[in-house]
Amino acid sequence: MKKEIHIIGSGFSALAASCYLAKEGYNVTVLEKNDTLGGRARQYKKDGFTFDLGPSWYWMPDVFERFFADFGKKPSDYYTLDKLSPGYEVYFGENSSLKISDNLEDIYSMFEAEEKGSAKHLKTFLDSAKSNYETAILDLVYKPGISPLELVTTTTIARVTQFFSTIRKQVRKNIKSSKLIKILEFPVLFLGAKPSNTPAFYNFMNYADFGLGTWHPRGGMYKVIEGMVTLATSLGVHFQVDADVEKIITDKDKNVSGLLVNGQKIDTNLVLSGADYHHTETLLDENLRQYSEKYWSKKTFAPSSLLFYVGFDKKIKNASHHTLFFDTDFDLHAEEIYDNPKWPTDPLFYANFTSMTDNTSAPEGKEAGFFLIPLAPGIEDTSALREEYFDKIIDRFEKLTKQEIKKSVIFKRSFCVEDFKKEYNSYKGNAYGMANILLQTAFLRPNIKSSKVNNLYFTGQLTVPGPGVPPALISGKIASELIKKNK
Ligand SMILES: Cc1cc2nc3c(=O)[nH]c(=O)nc-3n(C[C@H](O)[C@H](O)[C@H](O)COP(=O)(O)OP(=O)(O)OC[C@H]3O[C@@H](n4cnc5c(N)ncnc54)[C@H](O)[C@@H]3O)c2cc1C
Repeated sequence: MKKEIHIIGSGFSALAASCYLAKEGYNVTVLEKNDTLGGRARQYKKDGFTFDLGPSWYWMPDVFERFFADFGKKPSDYYTLDKLSPGYEVYFGENSSLKISDNLEDIYSMFEAEEKGSAKHLKTFLDSAKSNYETAILDLVYKPGISPLELVTTTTIARVTQFFSTIRKQVRKNIKSSKLIKILEFPVLFLGAKPSNTPAFYNFMNYADFGLGTWHPRGGMYKVIEGMVTLATSLGVHFQVDADVEKIITDKDKNVSGLLVNGQKIDTNLVLSGADYHHTETLLDENLRQYSEKYWSKKTFAPSSLLFYVGFDKKIKNASHHTLFFDTDFDLHAEEIYDNPKWPTDPLFYANFTSMTDNTSAPEGKEAGFFLIPLAPGIEDTSALREEYFDKIIDRFEKLTKQEIKKSVIFKRSFCVEDFKKEYNSYKGNAYGMANILLQTAFLRPNIKSSKVNNLYFTGQLTVPGPGVPPALISGKIASELIKKNK
C-alpha cells in the first residue's frame, strides 16, 4: 500500500517537496489554508492588471533548472523566461541613477566610469563570488543542516576566514564610491540581514546578480507556481485549498496520529509542514514544541514589508522593470529594522513595473506598479501609517523620476505586517523568514525533523538553507530526502 503524507501549506518549498515525495511513491495531500496555492508567491488580479503578491526577482536560474531536471523536465516546459536588460536600475538621487546591464563587460565599464580602478577590484571580487557560488549552490546548500561536519570540506576550510568576515568589510576594502558600495551590498539584503552582519562567503549572491542575471517568467513569478502545481498534479499530488490546519494530533508515544483541519479530524501518521515554523509548533501541545517563545524572540528575522499593488492609467517613465530607490541613508533604515525597530525615518524602497517588459500584466497604455518598503517585523501597522508612507514614497518617486503619477492611480491595495500574520500565520509578520547570519546558518537553523515528535518534518524559509525562492526549492528537496531516508 502507498505510504501517505500530508503537507501543510503550498509555498515553493511545500510544492517542491510534494513533487519529490510523489515521485518517491508517496500518496501526497497538500493542505493550504488560503483559497489559492503558492503561499507568499500568490497572485492578485484586478481590472485587467496582474500582480505577484510576493517574489518578483527570478535569480539563480540554474536552481530552477535543477529542480525540473529531477523530474525529466525543463522550466521551458512550463513557462517562458526573459533575461531582463537592464537587470535593474538604482536611484541615488535626482538625475542620478545607474542601470545594471545584463552583460558583465558593460558592468565592468560602468564601474570603471564611476570609480577609476574599480573594474579590476570587481573582477577579483566576482572571481571569489563565482567560486563561492559553485561551492555553496552545487554542494553546501543541499545538506540537511543536521551536523556541523556538513560544512567541513577542503573547499570550506580554505575559505574559513570568509565566514568570520562580513560582506561589508569585503566590499569596502577596495571600492570607495558610495553608489558602487550600495550596488554591491544590495544582493545580500535578499538573505534578510544587514551587510555588516552577513558573512563574506555570501558574496555568491553578487555572482547570482552580475554573473547569472535577472530573469522574468513571462506572466509573472506565479507562472512558476502554476508550473510546479501542474508537475505535482501529473505526479499524483492532491491539493486542498481553504484547508486550515488547526492542530497536529499526537498519540501517547509522541507519534503524529492526525490533523485537525477546519474542525474535522483526519488520520495521518506522516506530516511535513511548509507553514512558518513558529506557527507549526504552536499547533502542537506545548510539551512537544522544540523551541520556546524566548528562542524565537532572540532570532534575527528577515524584515516585514509594507507593500502596495497599484494600477496606473498611464505608462511610467524614467524607471525600469525593477527599480531600487537608495537615495536615503541605507544604514539608518537598517538600524530602524534590526536595532531600534520603528517606522523608517527616511525609507529606502523598491518598485517594480512588470508591465514595462511583459504586456500580460497590465492593459495597453497602463502600468502595474508594485512598491515595497522593508520594515521591522512586529511593528505597529495601521491604515493611517500605510497611507502616510504611500504618500512619502510616491512624492519621492515623482521628484526623482520627474513625473506626476499620483493622479494616475486607478486603484491600490496595501499589504503589511498584520496581513502577513493573518494570511500566512507569519511570526511577527515577517515577510521572508529567518535571516542568514552566521549564527543562523546550516545546522544552526531550526531542525528539518522534529526532535520531539516522531514523523513530523519541516521545510521552508525558516529551515535550511534560508529565505528566497531558490532556497525554498532546495529546502523541499532536502526535507523529502530526509523523509525518504528515515522511511
Ligand atoms: C514581498 C516579498 C517579496 C519577495 N521577493 C522575493 C524575490 O524577489 N525573490 C525571491 O527569490 N524571494 C523573494 N521573497 C521570498 C520568497 O517569496 C519566500 O522565501 C518563499 O516564497 C517562501 O516559501 P515557503 O515555502 O517557505 O513559504 P510560504 O510561501 O510562506 O508558504 C507557506 C504556506 O503555508 C500556509 N499555511 C500557514 N499556516 C497554515 C495552516 N495552519 N494550515 C494550512 N496552511 C497554512 C500559508 O498560507 C502559505 O501558503 C519575497 C517574499 C515576500 C513576502
